[in-house]
Amino acid sequence: MSVVTELPWGVLVVIVFVLGATIGSFLNVVIYRLPRGESLVHPASRCPACGSAIPAWANIPIVSYLALRGKCVACKAKISLRYPLVEAATALLFTALFLGWGFESRLLVDWALGAALIAVIFIDAEHQIIPNAITLPGIPIGLACAWWFPVPPGIADALLGLVIAGGIMWAVAASYEWWTGRVGLGMGDVKLVAMLASFLGLQAVLGVLVVGSFLGLGQALVLMLFRGAGRFTRIPFGPALAAAGILHLFDPDFLPRLLGQL
Ligand SMILES: [Zn+2]
Repeated sequence: MSVVTELPWGVLVVIVFVLGATIGSFLNVVIYRLPRGESLVHPASRCPACGSAIPAWANIPIVSYLALRGKCVACKAKISLRYPLVEAATALLFTALFLGWGFESRLLVDWALGAALIAVIFIDAEHQIIPNAITLPGIPIGLACAWWFPVPPGIADALLGLVIAGGIMWAVAASYEWWTGRVGLGMGDVKLVAMLASFLGLQAVLGVLVVGSFLGLGQALVLMLFRGAGRFTRIPFGPALAAAGILHLFDPDFLPRLLGQL
């Protein structure tokens, strides 16, 4: 660590940004392949349109998209804007958390959770699923971090959050489905809250639920007004919850402060 911290500040920030963009590039693979049941490691990156392998020089995060003006090298098909967007968002997230916390042990935890949440946002928005491959390992990883690192939430708070917040979400989902015969809240959302609780603890995850509900409500209103979504259109709740989780990483006291001002 001391070798790292002796580097000039500006160099560190650039290294962190590049690291974030690289992780973002991997998240693009996760976001595309996980919901399609494809392997994350094989084959190497291919153009979704023509299937030709993407050479390493055309696979540099953010830079290649700009240099190629968003087109495939081989077939000139348009590359989704999602690719540079995810890379830039992850790079900014990593940099901002680094600037906020410095090289603290919580930085690695926040980076890991933030990266998982970015993947959840894009996968749930497109496919209306939150892969178990993210949330189920996320629960024990979150608990292990709470156990291991000398920063909040601590293992007791994390376990309480997991049982209480996870339990509330499960009860809401199960009783809505029993009452109406329809799925309102998916089990994917329940597992996402369980993962958030394991990483953040009880009080924090309740705050994330409140903020996430408002974000979800806002998103539903926008979709109803401008996209003609009806009462029973499935609107994914995962992106709003995950965004609220990311907001919490930046500003853990967001909700208490907001409530204090009312
Ligand atoms: Zn192509």
